[in-house]
Amino acid sequence: MSFSAAQFKQQFPLFSQPENRELVYLDNAATTQKPAVVIDAVRDFYLHSNANTHRSSHRLARRATEMVERVRNQAATFLNAGSVREIIFTRGATEGLNLLASSLTEGLAAGDEIVLSTAEHHANLVPWQMAARRHNLTIRYVPDEKGIPQFARLPEVLSPRTRIVSVTAGSNALGFRSDLELLRRMLRGRDLRWIVDAAQLAAHQLVDVQAIGCDFLVCSAHKFYGPTGIGLLYGREQWLQQMPPWQGGGEMIADVDLQSSHYAELPHKFEAGTSSLAAIAGLGACIEFLQQQDRVAMAAHEQGLLKSLHGQMAQLPGIELLSHGENNLGILAFSDSRFAPVDLMHWLDGKDIAVRVGHHCAQPLVRASGHSATLRASLAAYNTQEDVDRFVSAVAEFVQQLDSEKSAAVSEELAITDGWQADDFSALDLDALRSRRGWQERYRLLMQWSKSIAAKPAIRLPENTVKGCESSAWLAHQALHGKHYFALDSDSRVVKGLGAFLLLQLNGKSAEEIRQTDLESVFRELEFEKHLSPSRSNGFYALMQRVNELLGSVA
Ligand code: PLP
Repeated sequence: MSFSAAQFKQQFPLFSQPENRELVYLDNAATTQKPAVVIDAVRDFYLHSNANTHRSSHRLARRATEMVERVRNQAATFLNAGSVREIIFTRGATEGLNLLASSLTEGLAAGDEIVLSTAEHHANLVPWQMAARRHNLTIRYVPDEKGIPQFARLPEVLSPRTRIVSVTAGSNALGFRSDLELLRRMLRGRDLRWIVDAAQLAAHQLVDVQAIGCDFLVCSAHKFYGPTGIGLLYGREQWLQQMPPWQGGGEMIADVDLQSSHYAELPHKFEAGTSSLAAIAGLGACIEFLQQQDRVAMAAHEQGLLKSLHGQMAQLPGIELLSHGENNLGILAFSDSRFAPVDLMHWLDGKDIAVRVGHHCAQPLVRASGHSATLRASLAAYNTQEDVDRFVSAVAEFVQQLDSEKSAAVSEELAITDGWQADDFSALDLDALRSRRGWQERYRLLMQWSKSIAAKPAIRLPENTVKGCESSAWLAHQALHGKHYFALDSDSRVVKGLGAFLLLQLNGKSAEEIRQTDLESVFRELEFEKHLSPSRSNGFYALMQRVNELLGSVA
């Protein structure tokens, strides 16, 4: 088998709706889109099978009951559980974790310990904090570096009082995968319950609870192309048998009298009330749909996009990447001190590119990375290289526009105070000059750059004259908000080209940054000295000397 993202995407009707034809959907860690088979299954349930399960025995009720138990069977295969009694339908990962936090802590003694990681989604933090408060338990955290758990150091926080270890299989904020094999080896043989939050993992790889070796695992169908409102809780039968039910109500009982009740057998003991029946039907179709895919090729496709995404974003100057392209479930997270992530999110939204901004319900992790919010782009298998490229170029355009807006604002301010405007070099790219093959090509680009130096009669004053330059040249300077700006004018195109090369690297920097800029090395690296006549090279050095004099006069 193999995998084609284009063919896969065609199975998701949302993308072929007229208003969504240009949509780039990169918010998959929040929820994925749904294939036609899932949408149809939900609709079909209401058309052909809608009745409550178990309680009644008419034809429709029997049909609905059979459907629920068939999907439970499918789910057991999907997760490789030992039996259907180990599969509990929940509303989602959050409900699964609340169930565990409530039921597993019942009967624990004050001072017993729960181990979590700093990278958890709030769904795997808050329920434990609530339970800890109720039973006087202690929560300990796996040692971390900037919020990223160092699972190799888990034994440091395990103690004879540890009763529960509940950790994510992969971060929804930064995408990194947890080393489940390492966790299995470290937790094997200990008298505690190990819970894996696979809410993010399940969309990106096959989940095998027996191979993982955990006691419990939770996931949400909507994260892996299934409907909202339905999730799975896997639990080892021996532990589920011992645990008290979480919620009480219909369906979870065998017998009720006025003072007490007897509970139903597994798995129904944990399924109080009417389940999300239509969503269960959709989940069944979703599992079947996924089983028809080449999951290995699908994951390889996602990983290819992820590497491209990280590789391209790393080229954009000023962007602080918080995620890595390796060992990652499919998430790019970044920040940039030049703008609020929400501004970029709106800009992308305007181009019909959907991403998410915020703490992603993982506040401790995002805070530890030094931010209150990040921008997250998360992949699914229907994303394409075109999606990645459109996203990156939209971000690049936003950043470039921001830079030129800034320099335009500064220019205006300079013009008011000194009668001249700093030239706009935002379209010039030093790397473009570097990558030109051969001197002729580079010289040609330099001549184009000369056009970015506008005529400035206002600075053609004796005090601005650059001495030692063969042609007439004038350099004016102004400091604004601790940054330095220079304006050049000259009769010579070559001097203007060299001036653009120089000022591109200096304008808008502090004096210290300018002193640290090694212009001479770049000048030599680009072979200017070798190919320009001595008088032209001297002209460049004369400009540099004038820059230093002007800086010295304000120091
Ligand atoms: N755990 C992780 C890692 C998640 O990413 C999420 C949702 O984003 C959850 C738990 C909670 O999932 P749900 O909201 O579907 O219950």
